[in-house]
This record gives sequence, C-alpha cells and structure tokens, in this order.
Amino acid sequence: MNIHNIPCEIRSERIRRFVSLLLDQIREQSPQEYKRLQKRVSRIVQHDFEDDHKNGSWVWDDEAGPRFEVPGFVRLSSRLDDLNEFSDSDVISVIAHELGHAATTEAEFKDRLPNVLDGKHSFLCEWTSEGCAFWHAYMWGFKNETETYYRRHCLNPNEVGPLPGYYWRGFLRTSSFHLIRDPEFDLSENENNET
Ligand SMILES: [Zn+2]
Repeated sequence: MNIHNIPCEIRSERIRRFVSLLLDQIREQSPQEYKRLQKRVSRIVQHDFEDDHKNGSWVWDDEAGPRFEVPGFVRLSSRLDDLNEFSDSDVISVIAHELGHAATTEAEFKDRLPNVLDGKHSFLCEWTSEGCAFWHAYMWGFKNETETYYRRHCLNPNEVGPLPGYYWRGFLRTSSFHLIRDPEFDLSENENNET
C-alpha cells in the first residue's frame, strides 16, 4: 500500500493512519521538506527491534553514497501498535523523529556539529544527527508529542548531556538542538585524570 506515494509495508491500520496524518501536516507546514521526503524515503516498513528501547530507525539504502542524499527507508517497531504501551502521541513522536532524519540536509547537520576534534567526533556526529531529527519534528508541529514521549520513555534530556563536558543546549527548552561545550567542564583535564 502506498501512502503519499511512499510504499508502506505496515500491517497496523492505526500506524498507517498516523503516517498519513504526519505527511499531510508536513506537506502543509513545509512543502520543500515534503518534497525532499518524497524523493528520499523509498519505503516505510515494520520491524522487530532487538533493543527494547528502540522503536524506529532511518536506514540508508546505500551506505556508500553521499549520506544526506541517498534514499533510505524508515523502520517502525511492531510494538508501537500496543495501545497499553504507546499512546497515539507516542506513535506520532516516533514517526516524526524518523522522518526528521530523512529530511535532514548536510548543511543543517554541519551547522549543528560542534567544532571539536578530540576523538569524540563520531559520538558527536551521532548526537548532532539526533538533534537535527528532533528539530524537524518540532518545526513540523510535533513538539508536544516529542516532549511527552521522551519524558515517558527515555532519560530526562534537560538533566543529562550526551557526553561528559557537553550538553544538549535547547532540548525541551529553546528548541535549537545544538550541542555545546559545558564551560564548567575541562575535558582534557578529565581525560588525563582517567589514566
Ligand atoms: Zn534518531
């Protein structure tokens, strides 16, 4: 079955309905990004994740291609159809976040990536990518759903940074989603102390 011209191999009628509603809203809020999603998302599929905390992912079809241009697909956990565990708002949050990864451009990513090369680069890339996805979800109007989901299912992002010495400026506060260095924390001193 196709939803907004995207093949959608999801058994749950409820989840398919939310995919459709989200794409309606994105088309209205941000026609350019909607076009990008139409070009980039090759399909949306159901998936059984081994990790209990993982409920969705964005996967590139060709890892060898330019990361922000190659098409890919969204995987959504079969668990999302469990009404006791995942409210409608939770389902919306997960889908919006994964589409946010698909919509992210290289320029946005570079703008958010902290200018630090101290061996933590891949970790920072990962969290920068998460920040970009959240930002898109917020911009499309899914701020409340995102906040509720992360309060209920994950850590409290206001309190916990992704890496010692950095924190995630803006998560649930300013919506800017830039990682910044904590001025109180001296990373080089801390690393020396670890040996
Ligand atoms: Zn993510």
